[in-house]
Amino acid sequence: MGPGPSEVSARVRAAAARPTLGHLDPAFQALMEEVKTGLAAVFRAPDHACIPLPGPGTAGMEAAMLNLLEPGDVAVVAVNGLFGGRMAEMAARAGAEVVRVEHEWGRPIEPERIEAALWARRAKVLALVHAETSTGALSDPGPLCALAREHGALTVVDCVTSLGGIAVDTAGWDADVVYAGTQKCLSAPPGLAPFAFGPRVREAVAARKSPCRTWLNDLSLLMSYWGGEGGRAYHHTAPVNAIYGLHEALTVLSEEGLEASFNRHRRMHEALASGVAALGLDFLVAKAHRLPQLNAVRVPDGIDEAMVQARMLDRFGLEIGAGVGVLKGQVWRIGLMGASASPRHVRMCLIALADALAAQGCKVSIADALAAADAQL
Ligand SMILES: *Cc1c(COP(=O)(O)O)cnc(C)c1O
Repeated sequence: MGPGPSEVSARVRAAAARPTLGHLDPAFQALMEEVKTGLAAVFRAPDHACIPLPGPGTAGMEAAMLNLLEPGDVAVVAVNGLFGGRMAEMAARAGAEVVRVEHEWGRPIEPERIEAALWARRAKVLALVHAETSTGALSDPGPLCALAREHGALTVVDCVTSLGGIAVDTAGWDADVVYAGTQKCLSAPPGLAPFAFGPRVREAVAARKSPCRTWLNDLSLLMSYWGGEGGRAYHHTAPVNAIYGLHEALTVLSEEGLEASFNRHRRMHEALASGVAALGLDFLVAKAHRLPQLNAVRVPDGIDEAMVQARMLDRFGLEIGAGVGVLKGQVWRIGLMGASASPRHVRMCLIALADALAAQGCKVSIADALAAADAQL
């Protein structure tokens, strides 16, 4: 129940354990087509090419930056947490001139501030994080993508933590690149980066002056394998078993239904939030901007945050995350992602957290916390 990886169901683990086929085997190629279709549905991106890149979510981020940017380009990057900062670093490594629009951690991205940056510089790319996992803050990509288009910039939206847990609306936002990871709300093992890119990206990649600085995730080369038009050619050996796992996770999600999954994440968050309040704890993020799948809970004064985590892991086998960056030592990050967003997880987390707080002398009632959560379940 940390910020990922989330729990992987027995069904997805069994799928990933199936015999390894060749990456050009006809049966595996049929499965690749289903993965592309499944990703287009969860990304809500009917006009984008949707493929899983080899590598974790960070590989998707890197592919976006290295394919779209070359030396001399300007990139505006919204930074309201760790991952926005990582995007800015990658844009700089691609040789771009980077305009970082800094926000307080825990706050959503403000369109007015992005607009001011886009007026000041002619940017090729606007990059932003939909669901900031380092803080639990949600930003609305719709107005930000609209601003970018007005100013002729392409958009890169990090949906690593959002995909499957809250609505990702690539077509509605008219976003150019949207990428995710498998180990957050999709509840598959880590190691793949679902990646969607639209027609403007294909044009931009074709118009590059210099070759893309990643060979592995050069989109124009990758499509010789994933595109399938005119026959597939070897590019790299696809992580076949990881793709089985993703395929099964997408099947599980489509059986539940996207809206049902979003509702479940929301309900589990409300139950956890009620229980957390009954324990006398506060959230970092204001209610209107909270992510259901990542709950940043403030560490009360006088409590050793690492000892709480260690006791929860030791006594209950339950992992929650620590604060990172400027929030180190100040928050716990509790994930309710994919298969970890269940009533059992919410109850177990509240019991374990209450037990660990009591061990440090807090006056807390496990029964009250559970009753508060159960009222929402
Ligand atoms: C987890 C995460 C990433 C990085 O994904 P990895 O799989 O750890 O490489 C990027 N962005 C956000 C918002 C994330 O939550």
